[in-house]
Amino acid sequence: MCIFCKIVNKEIPNYTLYEDDLILAFLDISQVTRGHTLIIPKVHCDTFLTCPPETLAHLSVKAQELAKHIEKQTGCKGMNILTNVNEVAGQSVHHFHLHLIPRYDSNDALELKFHPSDEQDFTTLVEQLSFK
Ligand code: 5GP
Ligand code: ZN
Repeated sequence: MCIFCKIVNKEIPNYTLYEDDLILAFLDISQVTRGHTLIIPKVHCDTFLTCPPETLAHLSVKAQELAKHIEKQTGCKGMNILTNVNEVAGQSVHHFHLHLIPRYDSNDALELKFHPSDEQDFTTLVEQLSFK
């Protein structure tokens, strides 16, 4: 059983912020910034891509509510809301989780930088990736 399933089953303790039948929100052990929170589905799925859509919809709505609450309670100036899919993207726990990372200062412990590439082939890309 994965570590987050053990948290759901209360085999590993956690600091719960919110819980209902489908999801659990708890403080991330690493506290990259103060209030760093994880929201997970109770049912095991590896990533965002394999989360049952109804569960994902519910999790997303609750994530927005909780993010607003954390913003109000902490006075943070912003927030990074993200999920990593697979190891190549930095996923270390293979049970889908959404990070809520409050931001107080752009020089805090989270470094997230988008470096533009020199990709120019937008015509091929739009043909390849357009979705209906
Ligand atoms: P990932 O790198 O997979 O996107 O994020 C995994 C997160 O899970 C990390 O931020 C890490 O600190 C957190 N984490 C790993 N094990 C535990 C644990 O046992 N309890 C809690 N609360 N967080 C954990
Ligand atoms: Zn799991």
